[in-house]
Amino acid sequence: MSTETIRPVAEGAITVKTKEARAFGTQAANEDLQQLIINRRKPTAHDVEIEILYCGVCHSDLHTARNEWHGTVYPCVPGHEIVGKVVSVGNHVKKFKVGDLAAVGCMVDSCRECDYCKEGLEQYCEEGNTGTYNSPDPHLGTRTYGGYSESVVVDEAFVLKVPSHLDLAATAPLLCAGITTYSPLRHWKVGPGKKVGIVGLGGLGHMGVKLAKAMGAEVIVYTTSASKVEDAKRLGADDVVLSKDENQMKKYGGKLHFVLDAVSAEHDINAYLKLLRVDGSLALVGAPEHPLPVAAFSLIPKRRSFSGSMIGGIAETQEMLDFCGKHNIVSDIEIIKIQQINEAYERLLKGDVKYRFVIDMASIKK
Ligand code: NAP
Ligand code: ZN
Ligand code: ZN
Repeated sequence: MSTETIRPVAEGAITVKTKEARAFGTQAANEDLQQLIINRRKPTAHDVEIEILYCGVCHSDLHTARNEWHGTVYPCVPGHEIVGKVVSVGNHVKKFKVGDLAAVGCMVDSCRECDYCKEGLEQYCEEGNTGTYNSPDPHLGTRTYGGYSESVVVDEAFVLKVPSHLDLAATAPLLCAGITTYSPLRHWKVGPGKKVGIVGLGGLGHMGVKLAKAMGAEVIVYTTSASKVEDAKRLGADDVVLSKDENQMKKYGGKLHFVLDAVSAEHDINAYLKLLRVDGSLALVGAPEHPLPVAAFSLIPKRRSFSGSMIGGIAETQEMLDFCGKHNIVSDIEIIKIQQINEAYERLLKGDVKYRFVIDMASIKK
């Protein structure tokens, strides 16, 4: 099925050839996701067309589908943990050929010219990166549509190579949960001799444990779920603290070099800042809907830093995938059909997933 869309731009009108694709998305914040048809552009010179085989389910998908960050434009097709097979390439594509495995994470483009883009920090592009979903689509004039779909077309500069020996479905979550934890762990120089706290054992948190451990750090997991204590140890944690228990929370007070907070909902950030030693940093990657109050005296007495971190650049994402290939690291996953996505969102809200849902895209109705 092929159509042509005429889109007016400043210089006149351009013709973008498009192709219809099946997808799952939502039309409003309070509606379920359902099957719909979207347009994908036909590959231009630098584009790679990917048949999506698996897509991970990130909590950001849920925040966005339900407009919890207040910027969602509908229809919204989430999904930014994409792995699949290349089915066609544009004339100038060099990195990929038909039949290759390929992956796409949270971004599909950026200005490529600002200082940050040149440094490989495309996620912090001065013009704003083009997110894989819910960003203005410079090609079609609509919004970008994500990986809950049978296909996607992306410029090769934003397409990643997948280590072929890893389980493909379990590799998908590396594209967001993996890089979002890898990047701050590297930035804050986590490694041997460092004590690291990981807060929230969800999709991001469980990757944080595996990666920090592979980097050589001592890892302490903070969880609200008693049912995850044994798992945390299996995943590599040296110790586990039940964060609802005030006595257990005292154990590492003032002792940790770095804390990675991957909690998706409101919680007391001060309890975790107090775990840091002098000059320690807490990086927030979790993005709850509402602000988290910070007490001055959680920071001042030990010159502590409170910061944030967003995904990672393209080169760093490839570095992370190669690191995972070398250390045989993938996500712990539960495979679902696309028709189970609404139920999966409800389970995600209850913390009832060990530790990432991954959609088998073969389930999308032909
Ligand atoms: P997830 O799988 O749902 O995990 C979140 C975890 O947070 C839960 O498993 C739970 O861990 C803990 N938690 C949930 N509700 C809580 C509450 N009320 N109080 C305390 N702890 C609670 O989510 P995810 O996909 O890992 O994403 C986590 C957050 O990171 C989301 O807000 C997401 O949007 C954000 N995110 C940010 C970036 C970035 O670039 N910064 C990238 C991706 C995702 P326990 O059961 O162990 O307590
Ligand atoms: Zn994500
Ligand atoms: Zn830029």
